[in-house]
Amino acid sequence: MARLGSHLEDEQAMKLKDPEHAAPADAAEKRHVTPIVCYPVETLPPPDLSGYRAARQGWEKVAEVTVPPREARTFEVPAGSFFRIVSVEGPQVGDFNLWNAADHAERFYSGKTRALHGTHLSTGDRLWSSFPAMRPMATITEDTLDWYGFDDFGGSVHDVIGTRCDPYTNRLLAGGDYHHCCHSNLTRAYADAAGLSLAEAEPFVHDVLNVFMCTGFTRDTGQYFMKASPVRPGDFLEFFAEIDLLGALSACPGGDCGSKHSSDVAACHPLLVEVFRPKAPPAGWQPPEKNAYGGSHGR
Ligand SMILES: [Zn+2]
Repeated sequence: MARLGSHLEDEQAMKLKDPEHAAPADAAEKRHVTPIVCYPVETLPPPDLSGYRAARQGWEKVAEVTVPPREARTFEVPAGSFFRIVSVEGPQVGDFNLWNAADHAERFYSGKTRALHGTHLSTGDRLWSSFPAMRPMATITEDTLDWYGFDDFGGSVHDVIGTRCDPYTNRLLAGGDYHHCCHSNLTRAYADAAGLSLAEAEPFVHDVLNVFMCTGFTRDTGQYFMKASPVRPGDFLEFFAEIDLLGALSACPGGDCGSKHSSDVAACHPLLVEVFRPKAPPAGWQPPEKNAYGGSHGR
């Protein structure tokens, strides 16, 4: 698609190096308009992080699941419990899907989560569900990689901008069939958990939270980039389950995603999921209601 403007400064260089259309006289003025945040979240009640964290006192680990390299596994977390995705053995990225355990049509909505919380998630951010429920499914209560922030390339960790590695894009760009992309891993694992065929299960697999992955958009072309994850064994991302959850985690074939994905080339490691049951839910916590919009769409 052609882009408007012809006098682009170097840092504004876009994909179309030689635009087809002349810039208007006030182009510079238009470019200097200060942006505003699309979805300011100040009206959302903030999560009571200290209340959540206090509930961890005396919690009990009730389940753990090891996700083998280049495979996915599912796990359940009841509302009011916590879970952690933990790095073990070596740097490894995980592609994460989440469903309402009682109704798999309600699933993690990475695009809306991105619109609300930004490109990369950390402590205090929520994982929002799809329409029409659109409510917090989980709240991030601790992130040992929060020190990373944004690097000089605009990269950060735990993105909601990628989708998941998949055999279709691989076929398109590289040719050949690779069956251990995260999309296929998640499809197999979800099919087993839900008792569905692969064909029935595949439409339930959705855009992910890229746990531990270090990504961004290139400044010159706006392309999705990845670089070696800073994750080290012992690092974890911790969540509080706001509703009853079914989760699925794939240990990406890209390993630390520092070079390649969609192949067996990268060094890969397992990931660990731990589920913790608190003695009591956080004080004052209530499971979130479904979104109150009535769904008439004006009719
Ligand atoms: Zn992947």
